[in-house]
Amino acid sequence: MLVTTHVLSGAVIGAFAPDVETALARGFVSHFALDAIPHWGTEPDQLLRVAVPDGLIGLVAIAAVARAAAPARRVAVLGGVFGACLPDVDKPAELFFGRSPFPQWFDRFHAGIQHEREHRWRREVATAAGMAVLAAVVLRTRR
Ligand SMILES: [Zn+2]
Repeated sequence: MLVTTHVLSGAVIGAFAPDVETALARGFVSHFALDAIPHWGTEPDQLLRVAVPDGLIGLVAIAAVARAAAPARRVAVLGGVFGACLPDVDKPAELFFGRSPFPQWFDRFHAGIQHEREHRWRREVATAAGMAVLAAVVLRTRR
Protein backbone atom coordinates (compact mmCIF):
# COMPACT_ATOMS: atom_id res chain seq x y z
CA MET A 1 0.00 0.00 0.00
CA LEU A 2 1.23 3.52 -0.76
CA VAL A 3 2.69 5.26 2.27
CA THR A 4 0.51 8.27 1.44
CA THR A 5 -2.55 6.11 2.14
CA HIS A 6 -1.03 5.06 5.47
CA VAL A 7 -0.38 8.73 6.34
CA LEU A 8 -3.99 9.69 5.63
CA SER A 9 -5.55 6.68 7.36
CA GLY A 10 -3.32 7.28 10.38
CA ALA A 11 -4.54 10.87 10.52
CA VAL A 12 -8.18 9.73 10.50
CA ILE A 13 -7.46 7.18 13.23
CA GLY A 14 -5.60 9.77 15.29
CA ALA A 15 -8.48 12.22 15.01
CA PHE A 16 -10.76 9.72 16.77
CA ALA A 17 -8.25 8.48 19.35
CA PRO A 18 -8.56 9.63 22.97
CA ASP A 19 -4.79 10.12 23.34
CA VAL A 20 -1.53 9.88 21.41
CA GLU A 21 -0.61 6.42 22.72
CA THR A 22 -3.91 4.95 21.56
CA ALA A 23 -3.57 6.76 18.23
CA LEU A 24 -0.09 5.32 17.74
CA ALA A 25 -1.19 1.76 18.61
CA ARG A 26 -4.31 1.91 16.44
CA GLY A 27 -2.35 3.44 13.58
CA PHE A 28 0.24 0.67 13.85
CA VAL A 29 -2.42 -2.05 13.69
CA SER A 30 -4.18 -0.28 10.81
CA HIS A 31 -1.04 -0.59 8.72
CA PHE A 32 -1.40 -4.36 8.57
CA ALA A 33 -5.16 -4.22 7.92
CA LEU A 34 -4.54 -1.98 4.89
CA ASP A 35 -1.56 -4.00 3.68
CA ALA A 36 -3.68 -7.16 3.79
CA ILE A 37 -6.11 -5.67 1.25
CA PRO A 38 -5.08 -6.75 -2.27
CA HIS A 39 -3.25 -3.75 -3.73
CA TRP A 40 -0.80 -2.53 -6.34
CA GLY A 41 2.80 -3.66 -6.36
CA THR A 42 5.62 -4.25 -8.79
CA GLU A 43 9.10 -5.68 -9.05
CA PRO A 44 11.64 -4.20 -6.60
CA ASP A 45 13.70 -2.59 -9.38
CA GLN A 46 10.62 -0.72 -10.61
CA LEU A 47 9.28 0.12 -7.18
CA LEU A 48 11.52 3.15 -6.58
CA ARG A 49 9.94 4.95 -9.52
CA VAL A 50 6.76 5.10 -7.45
CA ALA A 51 8.16 4.92 -3.91
CA VAL A 52 10.16 8.16 -4.14
CA PRO A 53 7.26 10.34 -5.36
CA ASP A 54 4.95 8.51 -2.93
CA GLY A 55 7.32 9.29 -0.05
CA LEU A 56 7.48 12.96 -1.03
CA ILE A 57 3.68 13.16 -1.39
CA GLY A 58 3.41 11.41 1.97
CA LEU A 59 5.60 14.10 3.57
CA VAL A 60 3.39 16.81 2.08
CA ALA A 61 0.34 14.90 3.38
CA ILE A 62 1.85 14.84 6.89
CA ALA A 63 2.29 18.63 6.77
CA ALA A 64 -1.25 19.04 5.43
CA VAL A 65 -2.91 16.89 8.10
CA ALA A 66 -0.86 18.57 10.84
CA ARG A 67 -2.05 21.94 9.59
CA ALA A 68 -5.66 20.80 9.13
CA ALA A 69 -5.96 19.12 12.54
CA ALA A 70 -7.48 21.04 15.41
CA PRO A 71 -4.68 22.14 17.77
CA ALA A 72 -6.07 19.99 20.60
CA ARG A 73 -6.01 16.89 18.34
CA ARG A 74 -2.80 17.57 16.40
CA VAL A 75 -0.50 15.38 18.54
CA ALA A 76 -2.92 12.43 18.41
CA VAL A 77 -3.35 12.87 14.64
CA LEU A 78 0.43 12.83 14.18
CA GLY A 79 0.68 9.85 16.55
CA GLY A 80 -1.77 7.98 14.34
CA VAL A 81 0.29 8.92 11.28
CA PHE A 82 3.52 7.79 12.96
CA GLY A 83 2.05 4.44 14.01
CA ALA A 84 0.48 3.85 10.60
CA CYS A 85 3.75 4.52 8.76
CA LEU A 86 6.21 2.90 11.18
CA PRO A 87 6.07 -0.66 9.74
CA ASP A 88 7.23 0.64 6.34
CA VAL A 89 10.46 2.09 7.76
CA ASP A 90 12.06 -1.16 6.60
CA LYS A 91 11.95 0.04 2.96
CA PRO A 92 14.17 3.15 3.28
CA ALA A 93 16.30 1.39 5.93
CA GLU A 94 17.05 -1.47 3.51
CA LEU A 95 17.74 1.00 0.70
CA PHE A 96 20.09 3.27 2.66
CA PHE A 97 21.54 0.95 5.33
CA GLY A 98 21.14 -2.49 3.78
CA ARG A 99 18.98 -3.90 6.54
CA SER A 100 15.60 -3.70 8.21
CA PRO A 101 15.41 -2.32 11.76
CA PHE A 102 12.84 -5.00 12.62
CA PRO A 103 13.33 -8.64 13.60
CA GLN A 104 13.12 -11.20 10.79
CA TRP A 105 9.83 -12.66 12.06
CA PHE A 106 8.27 -9.19 11.82
CA ASP A 107 9.51 -8.64 8.25
CA ARG A 108 8.33 -12.14 7.23
CA PHE A 109 4.86 -11.41 8.64
CA HIS A 110 4.75 -7.99 6.95
CA ALA A 111 5.80 -9.43 3.58
CA GLY A 112 3.49 -12.43 3.97
CA ILE A 113 0.29 -10.40 4.17
CA GLN A 114 0.97 -8.49 0.93
CA HIS A 115 -1.18 -9.43 -2.06
CA GLU A 116 0.31 -7.21 -4.76
CA ARG A 117 -0.38 -7.15 -8.50
CA GLU A 118 0.71 -4.59 -11.06
CA HIS A 119 -2.74 -4.24 -12.62
CA ARG A 120 -4.20 -2.81 -9.37
CA TRP A 121 -2.70 0.69 -9.70
CA ARG A 122 -6.11 2.30 -10.30
CA ARG A 123 -7.43 0.77 -7.10
CA GLU A 124 -4.31 1.99 -5.28
CA VAL A 125 -4.74 5.56 -6.50
CA ALA A 126 -8.50 5.50 -5.83
CA THR A 127 -7.87 4.25 -2.29
CA ALA A 128 -5.38 7.07 -1.66
CA ALA A 129 -7.75 9.66 -3.14
CA GLY A 130 -10.68 8.34 -1.12
CA MET A 131 -8.58 8.39 2.04
CA ALA A 132 -7.56 12.00 1.28
CA VAL A 133 -11.22 13.01 1.05
CA LEU A 134 -12.05 11.13 4.25
CA ALA A 135 -9.11 12.74 6.08
CA ALA A 136 -10.12 16.21 4.86
CA VAL A 137 -13.70 15.73 6.05
CA VAL A 138 -12.71 14.19 9.40
CA LEU A 139 -10.02 16.77 10.19
CA ARG A 140 -12.40 19.59 9.26
CA THR A 141 -15.28 18.27 11.40
CA ARG A 142 -13.43 16.64 14.38
CA ARG A 143 -12.50 19.86 16.20
ZN1 LIG B 1 3.52 -2.13 4.77
